[in-house]
Amino acid sequence: MDSVFCAFIHVVCFFRIDFLHELYIAQCILNSAREALPDNILPESIRKLQVQVGQLDAVDSENLIFLFEAIKSSQGMSGAELVLETVGVKCRCEVCAHEFGIDAPLFLCPKCGSGRVKVLQGRGITLTRIIAEES
Ligand SMILES: [Zn+2]
Repeated sequence: MDSVFCAFIHVVCFFRIDFLHELYIAQCILNSAREALPDNILPESIRKLQVQVGQLDAVDSENLIFLFEAIKSSQGMSGAELVLETVGVKCRCEVCAHEFGIDAPLFLCPKCGSGRVKVLQGRGITLTRIIAEES
């Protein structure tokens, strides 16, 4: 059997609900995968869902995978494996245009010291790839 490569890019609707955070994300990922799937591919044939998670979203990866495993069969995707990739934070200083990554929650430009920085990446959850098996 050949695998079908579906290169969808779908930003998952995101809303923070404290302790239900990861469960909500797991549901959003499954819903988005279902919506993005072409009519000729069944949810059961999905083997892998690749998802990028922004560092700023503070997602507990282990918890997210655990909850995904717990609810995936209810969405008819029992064969799907969730593969997470963390996207680091990248910012641009609006004063001197310097671009930099940050680890600490301190949004200051390391070059000129300005606090006027724009977050370029590291926020949001994106379903980047759906890999399914051809039936
Ligand atoms: Zn600067």
